[in-house]
Amino acid sequence: MGRALITGGAGFLGSHLCDLFLSRGHEVICMDNFITGSPDNIKHLFGRDGFTFVKHDVTNYVYVEGAVDFVLHFASPASPIDYLEKPIQTLKVGSLGTHKTLGLAKDKGARYLIASTSEVYGDPLIHPQKEDYWGNVNPVGPRGVYDEAKRFAEAMTMAYHRFHGVDTRIVRIFNTYGERMRVNDGRVVPAFISQALRNEPMTVFGDGSQTRSFCYFSDLIEGIYRLLMSDEVNPTNIGNPSEMTVLQFAERIRALVGTTAPIEFLPLPEDDPKIRRPDITKARKLLDWEPRVPLDEGLKRTIDYFRTVVK
Ligand code: NAD
Ligand code: UDP
Repeated sequence: MGRALITGGAGFLGSHLCDLFLSRGHEVICMDNFITGSPDNIKHLFGRDGFTFVKHDVTNYVYVEGAVDFVLHFASPASPIDYLEKPIQTLKVGSLGTHKTLGLAKDKGARYLIASTSEVYGDPLIHPQKEDYWGNVNPVGPRGVYDEAKRFAEAMTMAYHRFHGVDTRIVRIFNTYGERMRVNDGRVVPAFISQALRNEPMTVFGDGSQTRSFCYFSDLIEGIYRLLMSDEVNPTNIGNPSEMTVLQFAERIRALVGTTAPIEFLPLPEDDPKIRRPDITKARKLLDWEPRVPLDEGLKRTIDYFRTVVK
């Protein structure tokens, strides 16, 4: 079935990708430096046939012995708190890390997929966001380190495709949640669920009127797999178009956890996008893909997981 290198493989999405690739008969080389990921996410895979782990910072030269058929570059801090705390590492893994992994794909004749993001649309002026929208990003704001790294990564990927003929894919991932997210990574799903479970105030930023659209990880991973196996070179949105305000989201989680935790309103972080919803027309047509897991079901599974890790 082919051998896949998955960078960021010890992270939330990367570890689920490792699981999916192994379950579909691929060999997997998981590469990670644990900057935001954890061995806990992949400990069930150690010793399993076809799985290898390499601890490595992918901003440095990447060496892999033997054939590689697929390279999936998922290494990058992904939560706003993580990339604000690690701005240079974020810029480096999106730029140097993308360059190094594209170089490996070129050398091995492998198909390459970059994990891009809805953040390339910035604080969008078009709604919902379609792939042909070029975005509204502040390059010098605090989120610029992530958004611009991903925009650079897309440009670099297209350059390797056009100039070197590398077979490339670009997935623009919208907010995705589920088991193995880090409890304290600061993203809204772990934040609200852990606060609700501890019966602590749920920290809604701003007045909570900003919107997001949440996708359960298994839907996303399936979409990514289909995109990789398709011939589509141009960017493709994968996410769940069911949109809600952050305040509605807090109330939903409160109801599902069954807590009386109060809502606490805190200042809105700088450049926090006001609206976000993927237009997934392209993925529907091209990949015959759409999300299947309803929000309440995905949240219940995620809450069950967090019950085991929240102290
Ligand atoms: P995560 O923080 O759980 O995983 C990222 C992984 O990359 C971690 O294991 C980390 O240790 C590793 N890493 C970071 N820098 C590295 C480096 N220099 N060398 C080796 N490993 C490194 O985050 P995630 O949510 O799983 O995100 C994975 C990818 O998906 C990221 O590229 C992110 O930008 C993208 N993405 C995620 C979402 C989402 O909602 N989860 C949305 C859009 C894009
Ligand atoms: N958010 C919030 N409280 C929190 C964490 C996040 O209200 O404790 C808001 C945040 O301001 C944003 C939305 O929830 O509007 C999603 O935030 P997240 O960090 O998950 O990802 P983003 O979509 O901003 O990258």
